[in-house]
Amino acid sequence: MKKIAVFCIPAHGHTNPILPVVKELVSRGDTVRFYSFDEFREKIVPTGAEYISCDRFLPALSKQEEENMKNVSTTEMSIQDIRITIGMTDFLDSEFRSFSPDVVYSDSACFWGKLSAWKYHVPLVVSTSTFAFNQMSSQYMKNSPKEIAGLIFGLPKVQKEFRKLKDFGFEAKGFLSLVQSDNSTDSVVYTSKKFQPCSESFSDLYAFVGPSVFSDKQPDKQQRPLVYISMGTVINDRPDFYGKCIEALKNEPVDVIISCGKAMDQSRLGELPGNVKVFPYVDQLDVLSKTSVFITHCGMNSVSESLYMAAPMVLYPQTNEQQAVARRVTEIGAGELLKDDSTEGIRAAVLKILGSSAYAKAAEECCKDFRSCPGAKGAADHIENAPNPTDGKDVIKKLNRSVIAEQILYNIIVIGAAFVLFRFIDIGFLWIYIAAAVLLSAPIKNLYQNIRYKQLIKKTIR
Ligand code: UDP
Repeated sequence: MKKIAVFCIPAHGHTNPILPVVKELVSRGDTVRFYSFDEFREKIVPTGAEYISCDRFLPALSKQEEENMKNVSTTEMSIQDIRITIGMTDFLDSEFRSFSPDVVYSDSACFWGKLSAWKYHVPLVVSTSTFAFNQMSSQYMKNSPKEIAGLIFGLPKVQKEFRKLKDFGFEAKGFLSLVQSDNSTDSVVYTSKKFQPCSESFSDLYAFVGPSVFSDKQPDKQQRPLVYISMGTVINDRPDFYGKCIEALKNEPVDVIISCGKAMDQSRLGELPGNVKVFPYVDQLDVLSKTSVFITHCGMNSVSESLYMAAPMVLYPQTNEQQAVARRVTEIGAGELLKDDSTEGIRAAVLKILGSSAYAKAAEECCKDFRSCPGAKGAADHIENAPNPTDGKDVIKKLNRSVIAEQILYNIIVIGAAFVLFRFIDIGFLWIYIAAAVLLSAPIKNLYQNIRYKQLIKKTIR
């Protein structure tokens, strides 16, 4: 019997998959303290865990900070995460002394959970509610130039906050170690090995347990197709989009359910056609079990739940992480990207999915794969056994060594070639040469990395 401290950020998408795991741990006789926020209290208490409120540590945000958080700015979220951690220092100190947990189970984005585990030398298991992202799988995320600029300009601000952590006894190898998945940390990922991109790049400390859900329902599709629409629980104030969906589907032989979020005033959608129902929140798994097409923002949980219920999707990702999830769904053939979000575009995408059995078949295949995963039980095993034994194989470590060697070789060649070249051509062209060398460095590195990765994987599988 273990004492387990669970930490999570205030987000439904991150909290939901932890709940069945906690329930499983409690049913095994483990003592679980769940450090969360009052908005989630009602969900946590029925698991049997002891709920500990952390609301008082949420900082008051300025208007600008609030706006940044709404737009899921990585910089702002990291800064707030660090501030919350610092604000919790004394509280965490007293909790770790009095409760003295055997294991910390922390959401991957919850800095205070991870940092406390390291500070108090307690085995850490990371709960990953998205795909696990390392340098290979994160290639699935395409950052827009605006996002890249935001990350570059935001980094000094984040580093400044990050340095403050040391004064409060929190140590990390570097900021990246706080946000990226690494092969030496026990981790639970709520998807299958098959669905996770580049799953071979993750060590055996990763447990790909499949969707962690509270439903024993099976897919039960309706004679008259049901189209379910949700933009998740974070950026869901989208009356414009719901309005277009309603317009697109009001005359089609389908039923429509929209989950519009608790903050939106439903009257903004006007009078609803007979085949459309709008709710602030639904039992999503129940609805998905009957759904023939899910128009989704591609949150990892929503997509996993959709595939778990064999519902093909119209994919409408809003963030780069959601784009990565959408890309994987299109790769397995269980959905279509909504490239044109006009009324006509939405109608065409829904009818395309309904008109071909291939999408439903691909979703059914994935449903079978997900249901063969160990789920919450597998996650609980991984947590109870932490630190888990490992064979030490680490493809990413080997890959990093090769990439560093490639970078050194590249620089030697560039400098050597400069010595030879500028004997014959005007030295005035030097700046063009340097600019070309700098610009080519990243694509050459990426190309080399991908080729080397394939070689290493081949060797590992052999
Ligand atoms: N959800 C729900 N009912 C709703 C809308 C959402 O139960 O009406 C749940 C959904 O089942 C999922 C979570 O909220 O578990 C949303 O998580 P996701 O990762 O898909 O998106 P996020 O809200 O984090 O953007």
